[in-house]
Parts: sequence; C-alpha cells; structure tokens
Amino acid sequence: MITVWNTPIAASVDQILRDLKMMFYAEGLLKDQNNTGSDVMVTCPFHKGGHERKPSCGVSLREKKTPDKTYEAGTVHCYTCGYTADLPTFIKDLFGMDNSMEGFKWLVGHYNYSANDREEISFDFYRGEDGKEPEMDGDQVYQYHQNLRNSLRAVRYLEGRCISREVMRLFNLGYDPSDDVVLFPVYSRSGNVLFFKSRSLAGKHFFNAKDVDKTAAVYGLYQTVDGGIPEDTEIWLVESEIDALSLISRGVLAWAFMGSDISDKQVKEMIRTPYRRFVIATDNDEAGRKAARMIKDKLIPYGFRFFNLRWLADVKDVNELIQKYGDDFMGYLHRY
Ligand SMILES: [Zn+2]
Repeated sequence: MITVWNTPIAASVDQILRDLKMMFYAEGLLKDQNNTGSDVMVTCPFHKGGHERKPSCGVSLREKKTPDKTYEAGTVHCYTCGYTADLPTFIKDLFGMDNSMEGFKWLVGHYNYSANDREEISFDFYRGEDGKEPEMDGDQVYQYHQNLRNSLRAVRYLEGRCISREVMRLFNLGYDPSDDVVLFPVYSRSGNVLFFKSRSLAGKHFFNAKDVDKTAAVYGLYQTVDGGIPEDTEIWLVESEIDALSLISRGVLAWAFMGSDISDKQVKEMIRTPYRRFVIATDNDEAGRKAARMIKDKLIPYGFRFFNLRWLADVKDVNELIQKYGDDFMGYLHRY
C-alpha cells in the first residue's frame, strides 16, 4: 500500500512497475528492474528510445521528506536524462495520456478495486486521446490505390513531384477520380488509416478530411516503425507529406508533421518510438525557422538530437529543391 496524491493505492511500487513492464513487454520498456531497498532502478523509457543498457531511472519505494518538500512514494527521477515526475505523471507520459489526472485514475482503477471487478489489463492500451481512433475502411484505401495504378495522369503528377513508383506503392498513395485528387493515407502508430490528405491534380489546392484530428499522427512514422528501421537511423523532419515522400524516393528517411506547427500529440508519438537522430528540414522561410526552433524546444528534453540546415538555394522547401536539382539536392544544403 502506498499513498499517491494523498490517496491510498492498494499496491507496492514494485508491483506497479512489474505490471507496467508486462504492458510494455512488446516494446521492451522498463525491461530491467533492480530493487535497491530505497528505490527500484528501471531502464528509463524516456531516453535512448527506452533501451538504455543499465537501469539509471530511480522510482522511490517510500515517501521521502526533505526540509521543504515531501516526495510521495513512486517519485521518478532519471539520473541520465533528468526526467523527474510523480507516479501519475510518469504513467501519463508512458501511455501518452493527456494529463496526470488520467494517470492517477489508471492507478485507482487498477489497484483499488477487488480482484473480481477489476478490468482486464489491455496490452494495447494506447489508442490516442479518447481511447478510440477513427479507422478508414481498408478496402477503400486499396480501391484508391488501384485507381492510382490505373491513372497514368495521376502517376505522372506524383512523378513530377519526384515521388517514385516504389514509394507510391509503399505508402499506398491513391487517386479519387470523382474529385480528381491524389490521396495520401495518414496512418496511426498502430497502423490504422486515420484520414487522407489530398491534392488536386488541376490546381494546388489541398483538401483535408473534416472532423478528424489531423494533429494526432506523424506522417511516415508508422511505416518506419513497422518496417523495423534500425533505431540509430537519421530521420529528416519536414512540413509536408510531399517533402517526405520525395526525400524517401531519394533514399533519405523522412517524417512530416503536416503543418508549420508540431502538436503535443505528435511529440508524444515521436517520444514513443526509439528514433532520436533527426535533421530539421522545415521550409526555407521565417515560419519554417520558427517551427524548427519550436520542435527542438519540445523534443531536446527527451533526448532528441538535431542537425540544422542552411539553404544555399532560393527555393521554398525540400520538394522544390529536389525538383530543381534532382540527385544533387544535398549539395545545396549546409548541415550544422
Ligand atoms: Zn532517462
């Protein structure tokens, strides 16, 4: 029995950490746990992609009092990355919940009911904000993709944007003849198509699905995780899906946050992958530079490392650079 937020929780810190380890078994988080008598040292889930070699993150077994503060049992502190939180906040960050209150409710829900009415522990708990995520019909994605294969005009449009046929296939790009738009299915981390982004072949106008949360996913993240790409691979972070796909077509791994702003949900999605090495390739304008600064502010505290780029060409984004210079595009970017 421990006390969290002044509420008795019918479990020990040891037991809670063991249960969390089971829930994140597939991802290998909290894998090593070592009880020192005052703390449980665990492998920190928040740096090195959750796979540090020796446990350096301490979780206190009992309440600790200092002259000016009381730290409840379950207070977490990582001696490597500096992450510090109380137990509900730790649980929130681990699951990607929205706030610490949800982490607290999780504790109460799991340990303060009798065994009979306790809910089954779900092994795929994380489903975004409200526990559900919208899902597109897989047949629909397939049909759009077949349409694309049958429309030379749509394929040529994408080739004109420097996206290879192989990448069109890998990312299930589609075509909707009724609106004359090419479609980019956006996948959640667990592999559901959340929504489509689209571009009109006739004009430059973008259409976006309404009534969906477009800030919940990072474009390209699912395919990277699903493809088992090694965790030390460098990833370019860009604004639009077309930027990302034209880089990938040239053999450079890239993710897009689909805007000029990275959302807290996207930050959470990224933290929950093992990838930490990035190149910031936001647009070559003031908004792009502002976005780059914000992304670094949000992710560096979680152990992310970034290269910046200085543009040596007068173009607005990575896609335009590749259109203009083809395979030589890298020569017009200076890394620092
Ligand atoms: Zn850490």
